[in-house]
Amino acid sequence: MQSADNFLHYRGRFAPSPTGPLHAGSLVAALASWLDARAHGGQWLVRIEDVDTPRTVHGADRVILSQLEACGLHADAPPVWQSARTGLYRAALDSLVAGALAYPCACSRKDIENANTAHVLRPRHAELRYPGTCRHGLHGKAARAWRLRTEGAAISWQDRAAGPQTQDVDDAVGDFVLLRADGCFAYQLAVVVDDADQGISHVVRGADLLDNTARQIQLQRCLQLPTPQYLHTPLVLGANGEKLSKQNGAQAIDTNEPLHALNQAATALGLPAQPGGIDHALAVWTAAWASAWAGAERQARAT
Ligand code: GLU
Repeated sequence: MQSADNFLHYRGRFAPSPTGPLHAGSLVAALASWLDARAHGGQWLVRIEDVDTPRTVHGADRVILSQLEACGLHADAPPVWQSARTGLYRAALDSLVAGALAYPCACSRKDIENANTAHVLRPRHAELRYPGTCRHGLHGKAARAWRLRTEGAAISWQDRAAGPQTQDVDDAVGDFVLLRADGCFAYQLAVVVDDADQGISHVVRGADLLDNTARQIQLQRCLQLPTPQYLHTPLVLGANGEKLSKQNGAQAIDTNEPLHALNQAATALGLPAQPGGIDHALAVWTAAWASAWAGAERQARAT
């Protein structure tokens, strides 16, 4: 496996869900993934994760792309949309079914809640632990969703920021959903298929997704896909101490003030804030050009 400092090629990505504009928290993930790609001389791609159609907000994709541009975070290739790639997810699911690694499930959310006596805290994209009710057949009920069979050893990996990690997926979440009852492919399947298809070598994203990584590595192994290196950045907390998110009303970043937004994101990553606003940047740049101009004139006189 490649190490962060010794890689043959680097390709990173930012993969926002278009559920609203970028806010201070999502800009941190975007900036971190962009900086990591630039620092490694790699490529940086943007993928719009609109596979969860009920949560997709019309037009949010265009807003996000223009916010990234306004902040100078330019991608090295045109963006891709997951909604245009469902054939890839279908093929991956078919191969898991053919290998008896996925099975249909008839359970409703209520059935699963009733089977889970303990109330579990669920980070983003997590689910209630599935008790395995349909593992051995549907018992005459109609299939609603498809799940991955998660037997096997605990998954261990090294996160570049959070350090060594271990999760027994079967124990923590059980057989998880690949194709949902509403017909949408699940985030876990789409992200794994896309990261592999796009040749992503390094994933840099917010720490709220750390808990999903073991599921994704398990799926990569089932689909015989490579595992990228992972780095999960610290979360940005709001004044109330809660994670900034669209759900709890985080403000869209103000693209009229991209330097302010970038400074906030950089500071959240432990990087030094750059002084001043656009006036300061203009003054610094024009002063640098003025002295370069004087040097060019001296050079012209000397020749
Ligand atoms: N689209 C996912 C989200 O916004 C992020 C996916 C990822 O970076 O792996 O929650």
